[in-house]
Amino acid sequence: MDSAVVVGAGVLGACVSYHLARAGVRVAVVEAAGPAAGTSGATFSVDVTHLKTPYAYYRLNRQGSEEHRRLAEALDGPAWRHPAPLLQWADGDAAHQALRARALRVRGWGHDCRLAPRSVLRELAPAVAPAACGADEIVVHTSTSWFDAPRFVRTLLDAAVRHGAETHYGVTVTGLTRARGRITGVRAGDRSWRADTVVNCAGPEAARVAALAGARLPLRQVPGLLIESAPLHGDPLTAIIAAPGIDLRPAPGGGVLALSWDIDARLDGAAGPAPRGEGPGPDPRSRFGGLTRELRGRAGAVLPGLARTGTEDARIGVRPVPADGLPLVGEEPGAPGLYHLVSHSAVTLAPVLGRLAAREIATGRAAAELALYRPDRAAPGDVQDENLRAMDERRPRAAS
Ligand SMILES: Cc1cc2nc3c(=O)[nH]c(=O)nc-3n(C[C@H](O)[C@H](O)[C@H](O)COP(=O)(O)OP(=O)(O)OC[C@H]3O[C@@H](n4cnc5c(N)ncnc54)[C@H](O)[C@@H]3O)c2cc1C
Repeated sequence: MDSAVVVGAGVLGACVSYHLARAGVRVAVVEAAGPAAGTSGATFSVDVTHLKTPYAYYRLNRQGSEEHRRLAEALDGPAWRHPAPLLQWADGDAAHQALRARALRVRGWGHDCRLAPRSVLRELAPAVAPAACGADEIVVHTSTSWFDAPRFVRTLLDAAVRHGAETHYGVTVTGLTRARGRITGVRAGDRSWRADTVVNCAGPEAARVAALAGARLPLRQVPGLLIESAPLHGDPLTAIIAAPGIDLRPAPGGGVLALSWDIDARLDGAAGPAPRGEGPGPDPRSRFGGLTRELRGRAGAVLPGLARTGTEDARIGVRPVPADGLPLVGEEPGAPGLYHLVSHSAVTLAPVLGRLAAREIATGRAAAELALYRPDRAAPGDVQDENLRAMDERRPRAAS
């Protein structure tokens, strides 16, 4: 395989382009806006390995997490990867027992986590209000990180360019070319690019790209509301926090990023991506102004320092979620030459999925590690992600 067009410059497009270019493949990245303009620019982007089942999918996420470390060392020092402990707790005995059981399960799989008394919060996350945690015991995941996803994307694309890749920004793919039953390239208005393989890394828009070949990708768009604060006064946030109804992590520059799965369950599924700064801001007339205020209130209850911080940015990101929550990776059976690379949790997974997909595309040899994730797998079962499953369960209640 000599040439590839990669549609989309998010985390997956950047990683597969980097590995393809390194393998000597001629790569053209064609992107509707710019690097990390889609979900990869509006994401919580923490290592979510501990949330994944079954074991094979947990392993894949863990490989992604480990490859982040190796890639960061090889390319950029630690600049996009920020190691930090992840602290979880729950409200009420039933929720605590469920959290505990999940922690013990992943620990049985070799995951680096432990149960600890609530007092460790003071040591690991002094910025957290002691009263915010009503549980006696918390779960501490020690080998986690949060990722600066836009920086990750830019670093990988720059490296791909150094290996000969071309990037074309502000170009929306509107058609696929075909010859003798095979996809042979992309069209964008009056421009076109020919390639042996077209790699569909269009994130939440991937089903649209698949449809250009008459194919159907089982993909949902699941929006999420994020707010980012200005730098905190006093103690900075030094851990990733997964507390009841609110998730928090440090943001580049000393601020805090907040997300709530409960609140996301109440977002309108039709919400589209909003560029940074143009999302549902604090303006009460904004469509999501009430939810933004609620999110800010929940974050402030855990981190009192937020009450004294200034401006914040609010945005909607759109999760590309395959019907069963597992990645969709491989050639479209009805359209040889079109290769899908689409996943939720793709910030965690991009290093490993990008590497395996590139190897498969470049050599034509199927990667055994990807066998579970083919786009034509049997009818999907339950969603394999604890947060997504919980959000789906909350949806009907939230709507009523
Ligand atoms: C609120 C939220 C929280 C999340 N939290 C986490 C987390 O903690 N950990 C984690 O690992 N993951 C998390 N995710 C998921 C993760 O961010 C996504 O899986 C990942 O960013 C998807 O990357 P991508 O490269 O597939 O897509 P994108 O980043 O969306 O990139 C696709 C690109 O394709 C371009 N494009 C689309 N259509 C076309 C076209 N026709 N022509 C040309 N270009 C096109 C778009 O402009 C876009 O830039 C979260 C997502 C959200 C929304």
